[in-house]
Amino acid sequence: MTEDLKHLKERCADCNRQGVPMNKEHIFPKWLILRTRTNQSGIRWGGKHDVPALACTFPLCEDCNTAFGKELEGPVSMLFEEIEQGRGITDFEAELLIRWMWKIEGLAWIANHPDVLYSEKYTLRERVLFPIDDIRGRLILGVALIKELHPESDDFPMGVDSTNEYSVVFVSGVFSRVATMTVLDEFETMIPSQFGRYRLAPVRQQLQGGKLFYPPTSFKDDVEAVGVTKIASDRISVSHDRMAISLQKAKEKEDNES
Ligand SMILES: [Zn+2]
Repeated sequence: MTEDLKHLKERCADCNRQGVPMNKEHIFPKWLILRTRTNQSGIRWGGKHDVPALACTFPLCEDCNTAFGKELEGPVSMLFEEIEQGRGITDFEAELLIRWMWKIEGLAWIANHPDVLYSEKYTLRERVLFPIDDIRGRLILGVALIKELHPESDDFPMGVDSTNEYSVVFVSGVFSRVATMTVLDEFETMIPSQFGRYRLAPVRQQLQGGKLFYPPTSFKDDVEAVGVTKIASDRISVSHDRMAISLQKAKEKEDNES
């Protein structure tokens, strides 16, 4: 942990509780580090290169840590196996994958903004463990699979590519053999053509339901997948941020007038 994150040990950045037993959560989960072999090669973190991926941890309370493991990391680690084997994604699994990406992105955001409140609307824990609210039917999940590792790569990708600072919706990244992004429907056409797309049902079904989304294996290797995802993500991040800022301004104007 870097010096500037030390004060976060006092309060769980995830649920905002103080004085509860604390633990360490890996920003990138251990199962994914092992799956991508990044434990050997190291990642970029906190402005440094080649940081061992298992060393990138973040203080969270024991309770959040356990809940994340049980409700997100366990199911999503199995889901990756399903997706990479070409067995498809159910509507519920699509939601799970989105919340899991929000978790990684949220932890990274909090680590980079240790003095700023994550959101006034909800804690990160509420956001990633509760069912997605009324925005659900407007979310488009894009997924494309990578055929094989580039001859010069010695590990699989593991990283978030979205760079938005205001929008809390858009998130993208390439993890293992899965390139994925979550966008608001009005930006759907900005998703690169390699990605299969799936719109979530407006309301989550009680039952698990069948597989509905079979992402294509459209990237020949990891280099192509990361390149395409990164370039598209820069533009899509800007679009989402512009919208988030204009919505915020409209809300402030309304608040001032009332
Ligand atoms: Zn907590």
